[in-house]
Amino acid sequence: MLKKNQNITDTCSFFNCIEKNLDKAAQFISVDKKLLKQIKLCNSVYRINFPVEIYGKIQVIEAYRVQHSHHKLPCKGGIRYSLKVNQDEIMTLAALMTYKCAIMDIPFGGAKGGIKIDPQKIPVKYLEKITRRYTSELVKKNFIGPGIDVPAPDYGTGEKEMSWIFDTFSSLCPGNIDSMACVTGKPISQGGVRGRKEATGLGVFYGIRELCNLKEEMSFLGLDTGLMGKKIIIQGLGNVGYHAAKFLYKSGAIIVALAEREGAIYNKNGLNVSDVILHLKETGSILNFPGSKNIQKTEKALELECDILIPAALENVINKNNANSIKSKIIGEAANGPITPEAENILEKKGITIIPDIYLNAGGVTVSYFEWIKNLSHIRYGRIEKKFSENINAKFIKIIETICKRKILKKEKDIFLKGADEIDFIYSGLEDTMINGFHTIRDIKNSLNINIRTASYILAINKIIDSYKKLGIFP
Ligand code: GLU
Repeated sequence: MLKKNQNITDTCSFFNCIEKNLDKAAQFISVDKKLLKQIKLCNSVYRINFPVEIYGKIQVIEAYRVQHSHHKLPCKGGIRYSLKVNQDEIMTLAALMTYKCAIMDIPFGGAKGGIKIDPQKIPVKYLEKITRRYTSELVKKNFIGPGIDVPAPDYGTGEKEMSWIFDTFSSLCPGNIDSMACVTGKPISQGGVRGRKEATGLGVFYGIRELCNLKEEMSFLGLDTGLMGKKIIIQGLGNVGYHAAKFLYKSGAIIVALAEREGAIYNKNGLNVSDVILHLKETGSILNFPGSKNIQKTEKALELECDILIPAALENVINKNNANSIKSKIIGEAANGPITPEAENILEKKGITIIPDIYLNAGGVTVSYFEWIKNLSHIRYGRIEKKFSENINAKFIKIIETICKRKILKKEKDIFLKGADEIDFIYSGLEDTMINGFHTIRDIKNSLNINIRTASYILAINKIIDSYKKLGIFP
């Protein structure tokens, strides 16, 4: 029976859908039933109502912060602003954060927050008021802090909201030298890390590239190896969808369709993503982009012919009503929970490979982890070692030139002479994390002959069990 405050998917609540994934994975490993129950449950659910004066009138705002798991601390996860926010949704997204962090070896428990507002309809000064009030409610109940719970951007939020959270937290907790680490996704000037903005989209790119580079997987799907020439559809041109599109386009993939709230655009020869964004900025819509065909019903874009479909907006967009019409060979879940379990069964029968959210969109939290470390160490990545490596490399080049008795070309020298900047460390750290995660999951998938989602959940459960056992909580 579905209760009020639950997100209805095909036949179960969003939270129950994720529980089903866990149950499916648990069949392949021996796990104590009580421990599995503890892993599934949300440890703390904080539901807040607070009044805010907007345009001279009092409005009561509904908000949440859910800490799903405390097996590692702090808890970590974004805060979303959307009219669809409800308790079931935030609980589910908090649970996904736990599994995501476990898979990627990020030492955090999962959390999520949400405020039930439409940020596009609220002027910035009121958004600031709401964000600051929400933060002070979190402080009051000890639901935020560098070692307690660290929010980040999510659907409908970004750098400016994270700045307000940081500022409110630090003024309420004066003298806390680590207060910068109370939230991630901040602007660089406020302790943010380079590369955080594009991190989720870049992680999506690395994950899809890894799959496409595998000859065996591609020939099973009847596709060529590599990203070059792959036809891609992206639903949602927010921060995640936009950056994923940009990196995929740059590596030679063909973006045949882009879908937004107002409709979708299609061009079988490919859309130039940067030009689409310019058009969007100028006209306020992606529709009527020169050379492309408009698709009025945006959800129809999901059903077009392509090699890779990337839902990058909200949950449940692929459900039992449209799963049969999906023609893509690969689906990359850039959003959280875009496919319902019923849809997944249909898609599996059709032979579609799904790269699941808990792995594919973990790039955001991975770079948030790097930002948190930067804030706790109070120093930018590369600041100490950059010049040292440049000096050593210059000496090394001189030695090679002497031994080889020839001058090395300037353009070759430049490759070695540049020490790593913060952005180089972040990109390589993210790339390494995504590649390692992919192959660890794939080894489990191949050894048990199961799909990537179930293999990802097995990895997550095993990691969490290990933590509980080593903590001594479960024998
Ligand atoms: N909101 C993002 C997610 O769902 C990022 C969370 C974070 O950086 O903590 O993964």
